[in-house]
Amino acid sequence: MDPLEHASIPALAYLALSSEPRLGVLTALVVGATFPDLDALTKEHRSYLHSFIPFLPTLLLGLHLGGPVLPFALGWASHLFLDFFTGVIPFAYPLIRRGYGIEIFARGGASGLRIEPKILTEYPDPRREYEISIGGSVALTLLTLVVTLLRLH
Ligand SMILES: [Zn+2]
Repeated sequence: MDPLEHASIPALAYLALSSEPRLGVLTALVVGATFPDLDALTKEHRSYLHSFIPFLPTLLLGLHLGGPVLPFALGWASHLFLDFFTGVIPFAYPLIRRGYGIEIFARGGASGLRIEPKILTEYPDPRREYEISIGGSVALTLLTLVVTLLRLH
């Protein structure tokens, strides 16, 4: 999942669910939702910032302090949730490098529709370069910007 999708999905959810959305909360949410992919700059994508070891203390701090830390942590949670369904999350990295995720197949044909979930488990992929296709996400991002302008004015 690319950064535009990671930013847009929780932003749209916040804008849809909040009775009085605020730009500061939205900004903290989007920063929290996108920053874990800074892991791509390290030796392994989906490593330190995709682990619960730094995430859980941040969430607890956000629950205790409130302010921008809480929406930041919730954005981070949305990132981990979305990545869990598009690959693997190494929950205890670097203590345990193996990651887990769920891949869901929908198969249709003359015999009907079948939904087939499959548990993924693997080590994080070593990355030398970070390359993503964001073409399909541009429309989602534009929609998010329009909804943001409409909801925050
Ligand atoms: Zn990620």
